[in-house]
Amino acid sequence: MDFKDKIAIVTGGGNGIGCAVCLAFAERGAKVVVVDRDGDAAQAVAEEIGRNAIAVTADVTRAADVQAYVARALDAFGRIDCFHNNAGIEGRVAPTAEYDEAVYDAVMGVNVKGVFLGLRYVLPVMIGQGSGAVVNTASTAGLIGTPGMPAYVASKHAVIGLTKVAASEVGPQGVRVNAVCPGPIATRMIADIARQVSPNNPGGVEERYTAGLPLRRYGTAEEVANVVLFLCSDLAGNVTGAQYVIDGGRTAAPTGGA
Ligand code: NAD
Repeated sequence: MDFKDKIAIVTGGGNGIGCAVCLAFAERGAKVVVVDRDGDAAQAVAEEIGRNAIAVTADVTRAADVQAYVARALDAFGRIDCFHNNAGIEGRVAPTAEYDEAVYDAVMGVNVKGVFLGLRYVLPVMIGQGSGAVVNTASTAGLIGTPGMPAYVASKHAVIGLTKVAASEVGPQGVRVNAVCPGPIATRMIADIARQVSPNNPGGVEERYTAGLPLRRYGTAEEVANVVLFLCSDLAGNVTGAQYVIDGGRTAAPTGGA
């Protein structure tokens, strides 16, 4: 997978999966726009990459911020070849019957509206170029339910819906749109969820959860990055509107649970 002289934007690029994707793109020759609402985290990733990266502080729920990161990418590098529409939050762990409305709105805001706005302002650029590849970060929570995460599960099902619609619209213009569906991946997010589920023994959550996974372990951010880069590469030239599961077998044998 060669991304020499390709331009990639990654939202949520300051941490976790997005950070791994930024580094993987850079290793293979891409110029990278690291977008995160945590400006220090984005800056740190851009500095690790060096002169082939810029950092942009942006909140993906604000249209003006999204337009600004698209404009910065075009100013700096002139085009957008790859877009990893990845920023997301988990919200709280609580049953639907008790779920907080404000948290619901916040999760839907980042995970659905943020992904929509990214598509809304990046796709016109790719349509104009007649080429481009988008990967939206959904989740296995976009395919199956997880008790205690109503907003997150609804938001990730919506990401898969947005992926299918966009793919069907922009295919004729040479633009591909896919989704990745990670299962549990060892990042800050999964650690936060474990602390909510079991504040006194977050490590026990991992033990219980992984015991139900065919591969018996959490995935790594780098393993997700490998699939994101594949979907952005010419090797995936006939792949669009698809959902790629990277979940250690969770959805193949859903015996575990948080
Ligand atoms: P993370 O918390 O390590 O990183 C998320 C990044 O997104 C952070 O840097 C954060 O500052 C940024 N972010 C959050 N809200 C933002 C906003 N409004 N605007 C801009 N940036 C924002 O989490 P992660 O595990 O790397 O998650 C990345 C994506 O992967 C998310 O969409 C998440 O839902 C998804 N995912 C994660 C897992 C997992 O187990 N870790 C599993 C499935 C899907």
